[in-house]
Amino acid sequence: MALAIKEACEGLEEGGEPVGSVVARDGLVLGRGRNRLRQNGDPTAHAEMEAYRDAACRLSQSGDVEGIEPGLHGATVFTTAMPCEMCSGAILRFRADRVGGCRGQRPIRRQGPRPCWSVRA
Ligand SMILES: [Zn+2]
Repeated sequence: MALAIKEACEGLEEGGEPVGSVVARDGLVLGRGRNRLRQNGDPTAHAEMEAYRDAACRLSQSGDVEGIEPGLHGATVFTTAMPCEMCSGAILRFRADRVGGCRGQRPIRRQGPRPCWSVRA
């Protein structure tokens, strides 16, 4: 969760929304990302999607292209804001085991970065 909060803080420093996310499994970080909607002008650049893209990129660099999707199954998604419908769809599509994060849409600005929820995906 600390890594997701770090991503959120870096996003805020870049002038973006303070939302960060990490996809991890078995204690290993598979991917990390932050909301880059403003920075990239990309409406799909939500933190969770960026973390999945980073994870897929890392898996593909290992040469296991066929294993990218199964390689994301069973992961935990840490995020500093409640996932939107698009990101929730990706979390379900890639069969994350758990999702956890901070309450509210803008936790860094409004409440401070406190992880306070966790659900089975
Ligand atoms: Zn989203």
